[in-house]
Amino acid sequence: MKKILAIMAAALITASALVGCGNKGDAGKTGADGKKALKVGVALYKFDDTFISTVRKAIEEEAKAVGSKDGVEISLNFTDGQGQQAAQNDQIDTFITQKYDVLAVNMVDRTAASVIIDKAKQAGIPVVFFNREPVKEDMAKWDKLFYVGAKAEESGTMQGQMAADYWKKHPEADKNKDGKIQYVMLEGEPGHQDAILRTQFSIKALDEAGIKTEKLAGDTANWQRAQGQEKMGAWLSSFGDKIEVVFANNDDMALGAIEALKAAGYYTGDKFIPVVGVDATAPALDSLKENKLYGTVLNDAKNQGKAILNTAYSLAKKEDPSKFVEGITDGKYKWVPYQPVTKENAEKMK
Ligand code: BGC
Ligand code: CA
Repeated sequence: MKKILAIMAAALITASALVGCGNKGDAGKTGADGKKALKVGVALYKFDDTFISTVRKAIEEEAKAVGSKDGVEISLNFTDGQGQQAAQNDQIDTFITQKYDVLAVNMVDRTAASVIIDKAKQAGIPVVFFNREPVKEDMAKWDKLFYVGAKAEESGTMQGQMAADYWKKHPEADKNKDGKIQYVMLEGEPGHQDAILRTQFSIKALDEAGIKTEKLAGDTANWQRAQGQEKMGAWLSSFGDKIEVVFANNDDMALGAIEALKAAGYYTGDKFIPVVGVDATAPALDSLKENKLYGTVLNDAKNQGKAILNTAYSLAKKEDPSKFVEGITDGKYKWVPYQPVTKENAEKMK
């Protein structure tokens, strides 16, 4: 019995030592062939974000694939900024003191990139920003800065076009018969380029399709499902059936709105309001199939993750990312295209 306990205790110590090592980012670890591992520090704005979690998964999968193909150990260390820029700055300071080969940064506050850029440049550590785009002036500070993302305008335009399609096919959607779309808008985090531009371009696309609109309400729900549900619940109490279309800057908020619609008796009989989101997350695709969510836009996490990893990997090897990642523009931007998704093509997105 004593012997078994001793073995168990030893196993526990080993396990915790391994965890401790992982937390420090495997600093200084060497690969099986004796080569030094390439250390990539990935600072996420927040772990608890549906879309960002899928980007993380894509980065991890690509690191495994590329690492085994090239016989190199790519050691990834992810940090959780928990939505606090100060915390993220500390995490990046640690990566810099531990001499990481390259940083991949998903800023908490995209306007606060210059402090990070100055430190990284000083230390000679290249940075690949993603999903939260630093301003042009910051990106121009050094030629070892890159950005991987998607053109937010494009996703907004696609949302508007899907709503226009629905409107044209469904004359009954104009509930008050005034020839205009009365809509509500669930916005992402204030200041995020995707929140600003999706809000703007979705309505612009309706304008361009010759459809008149009237905004009943709009507010931020910070990309979050629970906040989307709460806002939508309140709008349903004040406007009820006056709402003809719901736009959400992302799928989590769209799914929150759908919860509120369900609670208000929608999706039974012919009670329906089209809700349009962005991301094409797994639960959003399920909702499309169940005839709840009307449309979404693929925010291509897989290809963004691939581009982030391959840009970072080439920089870590001190090579030019343009040789390994196709379509880098202006020497530093990689734009991954969006794609409209409705029930018809949802199956292909999985
Ligand atoms: C996604 C959101 C996500 C945000 C995080 C956006 O591109 O559409 O779902 O919350 O990025 O920065
Ligand atoms: Ca109307």
